[in-house]
Amino acid sequence: MRRTRATQATTPPEIQKPDEQWRQELTRQQYDVLRRGHTEPAFTGRYLYAKGDGSYCCAGCGNELFRSDAKFRSGTGWPSFFQPAGEAAVELRTDQGWVLRRTEVVCRRCGGHLGHVFRDGPRPTRRRYCINSCALSFKPVPPDRDPSDGPPASLGQRPRRSRGTPTAAGRRPRSAAALPRRRSRLPVRRLPPSPVRRPSSRPQGSTSGARTTPATGPRRRGWPPP
Ligand SMILES: [Zn+2]
Repeated sequence: MRRTRATQATTPPEIQKPDEQWRQELTRQQYDVLRRGHTEPAFTGRYLYAKGDGSYCCAGCGNELFRSDAKFRSGTGWPSFFQPAGEAAVELRTDQGWVLRRTEVVCRRCGGHLGHVFRDGPRPTRRRYCINSCALSFKPVPPDRDPSDGPPASLGQRPRRSRGTPTAAGRRPRSAAALPRRRSRLPVRRLPPSPVRRPSSRPQGSTSGARTTPATGPRRRGWPPP
């Protein structure tokens, strides 16, 4: 398992820019977090509940930091990962505060502050990389990676479980891509039913081709309007 050892910064980051340039390139909040070590307020980050497949890159330099396979819901108010995308992704530094000592997580490439890592994460690493959303930039699955075979054995069942909610909701056609196969069974009768669809109690009479599907099917989705 990839595990990064806590070390002080030994080598200067690959990307170095004058402070003024960072200030111009980043939003105010990104600058405060990445370059000044601030923390965004809990439960405000855009990636807190994000579930898409892909990579979380550094908002400052684009370095791939974490992958969605390692993301889990920690309940802490910040996006949490149980491991970084690779050895070269992040660097850990001892963060000696006045009250407690923590381990800071820093982008290895640009030195930007990302968050902290704690030892109360889930298996397999037991680590919780607690990362500010605004320090991240999400990129959907990179072209060189097949989404079906993510990074090696790293993925616990956890992310997979959280992604589906395959209960009754799965039956409701919320996106066209959701159930193409099932649809194909009852052929193309979707075309005729015009906007005026009736709840099957008084089916006859209207447009001829419309009433081929009984009201039992998945058809009903349209009509109790929200
Ligand atoms: Zn960076």
